[in-house]
Parts: sequence; C-alpha cells; structure tokens
Amino acid sequence: MTDTRPAVLDLIGNTPLVPVTRLDTGPCTLFLKLESQNPGGSIKDRVGLAMIDGAERDGRLKPGGTVVEATAGNTGLGLALVARAKGYRVVLVVPDKMATEKVLHLKALGAEVHTTRSDVGKGHPEYYQDYAARLAKEIPGAFFADQFNNPDNPLAHASSTGPEIWQQTGHDVDAIVVGVGSGGTITGLTRYFRDVQPGLFFVLADPAGSVVAEYTRSGKVGEAGSWAVEGIGEDFIPGIADLSGVKKAYSITDEESFGTARELLRAEGILAGSSTGTLLAAALRFCREQQKPLRVVSFVCDTGTRYLSKVYNDQWMLDQGLLERQRFGDLRDVVS
Ligand code: PMP
Repeated sequence: MTDTRPAVLDLIGNTPLVPVTRLDTGPCTLFLKLESQNPGGSIKDRVGLAMIDGAERDGRLKPGGTVVEATAGNTGLGLALVARAKGYRVVLVVPDKMATEKVLHLKALGAEVHTTRSDVGKGHPEYYQDYAARLAKEIPGAFFADQFNNPDNPLAHASSTGPEIWQQTGHDVDAIVVGVGSGGTITGLTRYFRDVQPGLFFVLADPAGSVVAEYTRSGKVGEAGSWAVEGIGEDFIPGIADLSGVKKAYSITDEESFGTARELLRAEGILAGSSTGTLLAAALRFCREQQKPLRVVSFVCDTGTRYLSKVYNDQWMLDQGLLERQRFGDLRDVVS
C-alpha cells in the first residue's frame, strides 16, 4: 500500500526568511520569517502538527478520536488542518473577539466551534480554556491539546523554527523579537538557542494591557487591561513560558500595532495579521535604538487575509479609534 499521509502536511514549516528593505531599521538588518506561508496561514500549523503527532505516538489520540482545544484561532486552524488531513473530529472553544474570517475558516475545515466570552478571566466557567477542559472531559475519546501546558508546543519550535532560523541566517543572528500567546514560540526558541548561541538576545513584543512585559521587568504579575491584537498578550503567565532569555520588553498599543501592520503592507507588500504589527513595531524600535549593526529576526505570525474586516477595513479602524482621519487624510488612500 502507498503512504497515504497527505502531502499538505509536508508543506508545514521551512518558511522563507526575508530582509525588510524599505522600513527604517537604523543600523540593523531586520529579517522576517514568513509564517504566513504555512498551508494553514500561521506559525501555529507547526504546533498543530507537533501536538497531534505527539498524541498519536503515545496513544492519547486514537483512530476515530476527537481533538479539543481552547484557541484564539490559529492553533485551531493548525489543528483543524492536520486533523482533517488525518481524519479526526475537532471541537474548538474560541473567544468572541476573534476575527470572523478565522471562525469561518475553522468551520470550513470541518471544526465544531463553540464561541465564548472574551471578557471573562481564568476561573470563570465561560473562560475559553476552562470551557475546553470541561468539554474534553465530557467527550469520549477526546484528546485535549492544551497548548498552554503541552510540551509538544515548544518542541515544535525547538525542533523546526529554531534550526531553520539558525540555518537561514548562516549561523549569524544577534536578536529575536517575539510575542507571547501560549509561550510556545519563545520557550522553544530559548531552548534551541541556549545550545547553539547562548548569548542570543530575546526581545519581547507585548500588547499594552498584557501582563507579560511587566513580569519580565519586575517579576510581578499586574492587573491586565484589554487589547484588540489577536494571538499574543496574556492576563497570566502561561505555565510553559520560559522568559529567561528576555533582555528587553516593549509594550505596544493597539494603535501602533495595527498601524505598523498596515505600514508593512504599504512598504514591503507583506499582508500580515495584527500580532505581526506588534512584533514589527517592537523590532523597529529595538533596531533604531542600536548603535551597532545587529542582525535581528522577527516573524510574520499569520496572514492578513484573515483580518480584512478589521486591520485592513478603514471603517472598523475608525470605529475602534485606531485610525485618525486627519492623520491619514482621505481614507481611500490609506492602504493604497
Ligand atoms: N501570533 C499569532 C497570530 C498567534 O495566533 C500566536 C499564537 N497564539 C502567536 C503569535 C504567539 O505564539 P505562542 O503561542 O507560541 O506564544
């Protein structure tokens, strides 16, 4: 019999690394790893594949089983893509602030989506992670992917994202700018680079309102605010997050994140999501503050096509107070 593993799974990872050419990066060279080129459109395809492969390997997921997850969208898309390719049912709990395009994409992939409140915190029965944990107990044969505590999440980055960056930069990289959602990316990269380049500088890009940046500065978990950027920022410190490599942290407002994502499209022709705006804003600030020509890597975490009704919708941006008419003039020109 021929191998029936769908070829789409082999398209996950090995994403391009491209230099920023037209934005002001001070004395530095800034590279972006285009995770938007993964078949499901985000960095989380790697994690979806690693968690399902891991669960199959140790028997937590069996043929006919169900994958359950609490997700801001992209992990769900990664899981749904891999689960569909491998023939599993998927049940996802998604907070209601997430872009409609993501939810429609999840449903198109055959996932069952439970929408829950974005405005409640850990411990509340409608909090998306507690809700998913409950569903996983109720559904027979369910595997709770639990990206916030699953070691296969950082492993995906320690075994693929990290080595790819190391190879693509010709073993010459000074700093990596990342955000924290589940903490999988930063933890996996920290683990990988600890061995190959122990002095690597991690720069945290955090949405204003998230508690992570302040935690890296003071070790204290403060009161969380709210932010519109999707996929990064937390109101707690995720269990798997290794923040020990963070030497500098920036808190970026929604206005700057969304504006920078639009700037990336205008200047470089790269259509990215809102968390990329946060990462790029922090990366540009970091680069411009340097005296020496460092080589810096950051990420295009996901594709902007799933935010067309938000980041790239002038009316939505105006309604949210993220765009100023007088600053941008005629709105028709904003993304031209
Ligand atoms: N950007 C986007 C768009 C995401 O969906 C995620 C994952 N939630 C991240 C960044 C952050 O990655 P991690 O979960 O590995 O911290």
